[in-house]
Amino acid sequence: RVEASDPTAVALGYVHDASQVDEATRGDASNICLTCRFYSDLTAAEWGPCVLFPGKSVAAKGWCRTWAVRPS
Ligand code: SF4
Repeated sequence: RVEASDPTAVALGYVHDASQVDEATRGDASNICLTCRFYSDLTAAEWGPCVLFPGKSVAAKGWCRTWAVRPS
């Protein structure tokens, strides 16, 4: 699991709990790692892989500034 203190996490404003970030910054409440195009294993319901954090897991309910909608 990625640590909140991880340099990449800090640089991207990553948090384990997206609700800590106000919606003016984050956008829609559904903008969490689980719905992000960079979250690469949708079967990972709690912690899963993110392309930006190779070898580490991010929280499904997390968020960072790089969040981007997954193409449908
Ligand atoms: Fe979460 Fe997406 Fe940021 Fe990765 S890029 S930490 S999946 S919001």
